[in-house]
Amino acid sequence: MDSPAQAPVPNPQALEGDGLGCHSGAQALREAAASAGKSDTLARYAADYPQGPHDQPQSMCPAFGSLRVGLRMRRTQTILSGSACCVYGLTFTSHFYGARRSVGYVPFNSETLVTGKLFEDIREAVHAQADPAQFDAIVIINLCVPTASGVPLQLLPREINGVRIIGIDVPGFGVPTHAEAKDVLAGAMLKFARGEIAAGPVQAPRAGRADKPTVALIGEVFPADPVGIGMMLDPLGLAAGPVVPTREWRELYAALDCRVAAALHPFYTASVREFEAAGRPVVGSAPVGHDGTEAWLQAVGSAAGVAQARIDDAKNRFLPAIRAALQRTPIQGRITLSGYEGSELLVARLLVESGADLRYVGSACPATPWSQADREWLESRGVLVRFRASLEDDLAAMREFKPDLAVGTTPVVQAAKQAGIPALYFTNLISARPLMGPAGAGSLATVINTAIANKARFDDMKAFFGDVGHGHASGVWEGVPQDRPEFREHTRRQVIKLQKKLKSEEMI
Ligand code: SF4
Repeated sequence: MDSPAQAPVPNPQALEGDGLGCHSGAQALREAAASAGKSDTLARYAADYPQGPHDQPQSMCPAFGSLRVGLRMRRTQTILSGSACCVYGLTFTSHFYGARRSVGYVPFNSETLVTGKLFEDIREAVHAQADPAQFDAIVIINLCVPTASGVPLQLLPREINGVRIIGIDVPGFGVPTHAEAKDVLAGAMLKFARGEIAAGPVQAPRAGRADKPTVALIGEVFPADPVGIGMMLDPLGLAAGPVVPTREWRELYAALDCRVAAALHPFYTASVREFEAAGRPVVGSAPVGHDGTEAWLQAVGSAAGVAQARIDDAKNRFLPAIRAALQRTPIQGRITLSGYEGSELLVARLLVESGADLRYVGSACPATPWSQADREWLESRGVLVRFRASLEDDLAAMREFKPDLAVGTTPVVQAAKQAGIPALYFTNLISARPLMGPAGAGSLATVINTAIANKARFDDMKAFFGDVGHGHASGVWEGVPQDRPEFREHTRRQVIKLQKKLKSEEMI
């Protein structure tokens, strides 16, 4: 057994000052992590997930993406190592989203962190959990503070009793969105599985190997979408392969066994790297709407070496049905769209093809080669496309374009409703619908048109409530709310003083 002294020395500075969380100190945490031996990991994340105008998450904790991927896999145990408040938030969110599994947690305090005992506790926890009768894999996720402190998960054994141990760092100061954190774990698992394939025979898929060459689908799509995609691939002599992130370890082998990998969601940079390393061509965009489906069938067919006549046959079978569905369910109205799921540009294409006057699409995810075609298609139709969009970008677009409907993240929806603009939450109401092929065409129209038609209700509410509950009068009061400008002024002076103090400390 390694002693704590054999592990790289953790960095106690990570616990100092107010640099403990995503609310502040990202640069300090990044520097701490680098000096604690995590430079390579951070450099890879910086290349895979380039930062945008802001250097810290503006949505939920990024680690939720990795946690969710682990929790959705069969025979997989997921353990968090991080501050109790972060773990509380992450477990709350995962159970809110229907996880039916316990989340493992290795707690720490400043003593176990700085002495290296935390690493020993983690190792003890994975040994205790590594029961091959229950698990194929154990995922252990370092959150911000253990990453900044250099807790060396790479020193954990690769396997214990045949149970794979996957240790990953998912700090908010290195992985900007929860979408990209899904890729961190999916990529790590694909890499591990690729190594197993290279070493010898591996388990076949539960339902046996497909009798046709497959197209692996990268991205968490609506459950009906792979079925629809499979129908469109059939005339090409291809079948839909597993969806990555997979729901079971051995699906990783089947995914890597594909003929072509389709990056339906474009931010899976590490996963794409593994498919490319396995010699699989990767195509971008997705079969959304008429034009998107046409281009996607062509790209997949060409990458798989399918004869042009068969590709044309598939197009002739499905494109007229898609066009008809789009025309049957038109969307009328001006829309701005933003989100952090990474599928925003695909939804944007569907909206435009449905007739919507879409002015802006913002995605918290970065531009990648696999979203390039979507970006060009949208920009050629006058849509302003913003990658790594900040909340401020999204709000500015809403104010600028004055839409009939704002589709966006929670704070955008809140701001829109406050302004009397109908709004829909992208994650729950828009991205959780079929988007691909004939089933996707027209799936958005009812919810969008109904929301736009609600404008009059917003006007009525605004007229009824007037200025009640605005500004200093927000909240629940027993008496008449009193404005206290002197309190605000006092706080403002305190903040300026604190900023000056921090600045002068930086210069020392
Ligand atoms: S782990 Fe998540 S919640 Fe905790 S500090 Fe980091 S980004 Fe914030």
